[in-house]
Amino acid sequence: MEQSYQVKNTYIVRFGCQKDLLREITDFILSHQITLGHISLIGAVSSYHVGYYDSIAKKYISIEEERHMEILNGTGNISLKDGKPFAHVHLTLADDTGKAVGGHLFEGVKIFACEAVITEFDGAPLIRELDEDTGLTLWK
Ligand code: ZN
Repeated sequence: MEQSYQVKNTYIVRFGCQKDLLREITDFILSHQITLGHISLIGAVSSYHVGYYDSIAKKYISIEEERHMEILNGTGNISLKDGKPFAHVHLTLADDTGKAVGGHLFEGVKIFACEAVITEFDGAPLIRELDEDTGLTLWK
């Protein structure tokens, strides 16, 4: 699949210290009714919870730790899932030696500092539906 869109809005957002990253992103896109877009963020966290999708078991393995980490990169997209704006974000984090860990963003990532750019696109939103081959909710 491939579609073309124009940028409708670009938001610069700083999410608050000690807040949950995924909840902050979700609250923002719900309150601004962003149904299609891109997310880019950097910063640091004081704990993290990401997932690795086991393609055989078709479920996420949790990776979590109470530890200060740099957010090297957070990238995601916004589309509709179950009729509501839904953010799908992946994080790359680094420890104090520069070693990286990352995965699919879950609730449980406590923000230390976070600067995000959220780009909203104009046009019909993409819709997520369960994909039988992968067990994931993907764009139809
Ligand atoms: Zn993911």
